[in-house]
Amino acid sequence: MSTLRVDVFACDMPCRQCSMPLRWVFGLLPSHRPDGSEFTTTDFPEAVDVARRILADPTGDTMDLAAQLHDRPAWQRGRSFNPNTCGRCGHQADWHVLDDVIHHALHGRWLRAAESRVPVPQWRAIRGRGQGISWTP
Ligand SMILES: [Zn+2]
Repeated sequence: MSTLRVDVFACDMPCRQCSMPLRWVFGLLPSHRPDGSEFTTTDFPEAVDVARRILADPTGDTMDLAAQLHDRPAWQRGRSFNPNTCGRCGHQADWHVLDDVIHHALHGRWLRAAESRVPVPQWRAIRGRGQGISWTP
């Protein structure tokens, strides 16, 4: 099966509950010649699965970040949710907090947390989804 390299983007912001620095995973984009319209936010289950798999790549050093991405908790309502949990207090903020983080990150404070290969059909199923923001780093 053909694959493509996909980057996982993150942003360092404090936990809203305990103020510990927290690395928030917020988006995905192909590594090679990124097209801004393919930017995908990690606020729905299929994108969270892809991000988790890239971060858990054994050749990288982001296994702990993969472990901080959780599924949608029962109390989070609506189309989107925030998968990031605090490594210290376990707090999982709601979607509105991740929305703030994304807007903050897109104005300059972001980093590439990891990259790995993703099967092309899996990428096609999610690309450009989530918040539908066009962004090229
Ligand atoms: Zn915390």
